[in-house]
Amino acid sequence: MSKRDYYEVLEVSKDASERDIKKAYKRLAMKLHPDRNAGDKDKEEQFKEVKEAYEILNDDQKRAAFDQYGHAAFEQGGHGGGGHGGGGFGQDFGDIFGDIFGGGRGGGRQQRQQRGSDLRYNLDLSLEDAVRGKTLEIKVPTYVSCEPCDGSGAKKGTSAKSCTTCHGHGQVQMRQGLFAVQQTCPTCSGKGKVIASPCTSCRGQGRVEKTKTLSVKIPPGVDTGDRIRLSGEGEAGEHGAPAGDLYVQANVRDHKIFVRDENNLYCEVPISFTTAALGGEIEVPTLEGKVKLKIPKETQTGKMFRLRGKGVKSVRSHSIGDLMCKVVLETPVNLSGDQADLLRQLDEKMGKSTIKHSPKETGFFDGVKKFFDDLKS
Ligand SMILES: [Zn+2]
Ligand SMILES: [Zn+2]
Repeated sequence: MSKRDYYEVLEVSKDASERDIKKAYKRLAMKLHPDRNAGDKDKEEQFKEVKEAYEILNDDQKRAAFDQYGHAAFEQGGHGGGGHGGGGFGQDFGDIFGDIFGGGRGGGRQQRQQRGSDLRYNLDLSLEDAVRGKTLEIKVPTYVSCEPCDGSGAKKGTSAKSCTTCHGHGQVQMRQGLFAVQQTCPTCSGKGKVIASPCTSCRGQGRVEKTKTLSVKIPPGVDTGDRIRLSGEGEAGEHGAPAGDLYVQANVRDHKIFVRDENNLYCEVPISFTTAALGGEIEVPTLEGKVKLKIPKETQTGKMFRLRGKGVKSVRSHSIGDLMCKVVLETPVNLSGDQADLLRQLDEKMGKSTIKHSPKETGFFDGVKKFFDDLKS
């Protein structure tokens, strides 16, 4: 059977990008997959053809070989995964998604001396600690370099030997048709070294699990989502490879009184209606204790007062936020008969007065009147 041009099979042009090829493959594979076309032999054959074309064109080296030599590049010698395996389509389907959505092939090429993983530690903080800064101790489950073997993974007194299969390169060359392909060395899994007698403490890994206690300095002003990087405090790498980093991510807990927005703090303070009407002085909480705030006469409920510089000092600059204080007027409760009488007298006097005492109400009822007048006309 003469083979069709791989580009033709995938319905792409010769200069198609890697992305175009992936896209074309995904589209065709979805259409032709045996799971969707039960018993359709033609579609099954087409599916195999598409899969084979993709495997060649998605690999830079194989694609270059195909461009140069055509199908001849792959005719001799068995190159694995050519799509003639027969049966086991579940596996094939797995491969498709592994290739398209996962890291793809060749990801393991440079796996020697792979750095340890980075870690993230979620740190809950009170608003006070976040604002003032604090040094805290945290316990982090992680991997640390193995002490008996000093991270090498080899038993004390021995050492890892250079791999004889790949001569320490971690890669071996395999011939596929006319073309030589680099592959990860199967003997040492790409590490380039082989440990004859592994360390018993770490079973040759060069690292062991351990819960580390670390001291973290939280700078003043951090907020939820801020990350502090502790270089080299992540997981130790295998076989003495460098450690990753530890990221401490701050999460500031809700506060009973203050709400933070960037570097400003917001709070609500109740005031009596007498203070609101006549003016006076109230005490306002700040993170450094109470301060006095002057309330001008005729203050309405909901009025916001700004206390400059009583907010949070920015963690990134020298600027300091403000404290925004909203006053909320309190309606008196539990009035005695006398007190209630006094209020009634006051109300009566204000009602007879020709001066407006309720600015909002006046405005409101004027608005309502206009609304209904407009409806009528
Ligand atoms: Zn060890
Ligand atoms: Zn090797």
